[in-house]
Amino acid sequence: MTDFQATRRQFDLPEGMIYLNGNSLGPMPKAAVPAMTGFLNDEWRTELIKGWNTKNWFMQTNTLGDRVGRLIGAPEGTTVVGDTLSIKVFQAVAAGMAMVPDRRVILSDNGNFPTDLYMVEGLIKLKDAGYTLRTPDPEDVMAGITEEVGVVMITEVDYRTGRRHDMRAIIERAHSVGAVVVWDLAHSAGAVPVDVGGCDTDFAIGCTYKYLNGGPGAPAFIHVAPRLLDTVEPFLSGWYGHEAPFAFDKDYRPMPGRIERMRIGTPSIASFALLSAALDIWDGVDMGDLHAKSIALSELFIREVESRCPGLTLVSPRDPQARGSHVSFAYENGYAAMQALIAENVIGDFRAPDVMRFGITPLFIGEVEIMGAVDTLEAILKEERWKDERFQKRSLVT
Ligand SMILES: *Cc1c(COP(=O)(O)O)cnc(C)c1O
Repeated sequence: MTDFQATRRQFDLPEGMIYLNGNSLGPMPKAAVPAMTGFLNDEWRTELIKGWNTKNWFMQTNTLGDRVGRLIGAPEGTTVVGDTLSIKVFQAVAAGMAMVPDRRVILSDNGNFPTDLYMVEGLIKLKDAGYTLRTPDPEDVMAGITEEVGVVMITEVDYRTGRRHDMRAIIERAHSVGAVVVWDLAHSAGAVPVDVGGCDTDFAIGCTYKYLNGGPGAPAFIHVAPRLLDTVEPFLSGWYGHEAPFAFDKDYRPMPGRIERMRIGTPSIASFALLSAALDIWDGVDMGDLHAKSIALSELFIREVESRCPGLTLVSPRDPQARGSHVSFAYENGYAAMQALIAENVIGDFRAPDVMRFGITPLFIGEVEIMGAVDTLEAILKEERWKDERFQKRSLVT
């Protein structure tokens, strides 16, 4: 059994704060501080350029990639970290398009995170070859997977509602019509059990600053099915993906048969130090245990909010198996109510037009925090504290 008391002790959360936003930016592991000072003092300062070899900086894309890979069911040697998720969307979809050159439809859904759709729009413009992006309602994705579709690009867990797609069923359907599948696991990695290997997806991408707690701007990851590693076209053909980066050839030749071909350029090694410290916590975590606890806490939260907080309507699926690890409620005064909660040190977030979002992250959240958060929310609604002038003004980042 995973020891969630032990994982909680490994985070440095401010005294008195109830942090229900680990789905957006995970909190800082205590080990982040020694990891960063260690990197500065014992790696950058002392090793300088030698660090690429002596501290293995050059291959941390892969060693960290394999550790993330374990959490999403990826076999060793099929996942690398680096770049940003937006860039990985572009790279994976571009690679997918090239695998089905005679098809011109990319299928996503209208609940996808905007940057995923924006990146594909840009890619379509760049290709200038008659591609279209279809975005049906999430419920209509299965029916939309037809022989016209080249690439199915789906985010497993909806960032607003927490709605979770059936990954295995979508992959089976897509492969049966000859389409390629790209999964965005931004709200899945570290949130729910994922088995990219067992489901045989073509590509999976995600970020490490949400549930994985790698820190703001932590690197993204990409997984490619082993059967594609010899042929997949990286397109963002940077020197880090070259067969022999230090041959400094004039021409690009992707690294044959290896996931390194999806690397692009020099990653932030400082950021890798933080990610490594965060992944140390995950090494002791079983995703089945985590999911069971996430469901128990989410059910408690939903039950308490529904019985004590009139006006809030659950917009997440009621079936826990059809949800990720955050819970969302619609409320017409949601923005102001969330600001009032934050002022009382209960941190969730708000997504337009009216969604209050709460991340349920068992590594550092338990029943006490869930009950404390609902107590505060109930009081804010009862006393209409959200009506205060200072809770009406929108910040740059919500
Ligand atoms: C958080 C998130 C992103 C963010 O992309 P960045 O490039 O890291 O800013 C993209 N897609 C989804 C589905 C997300 O949830």
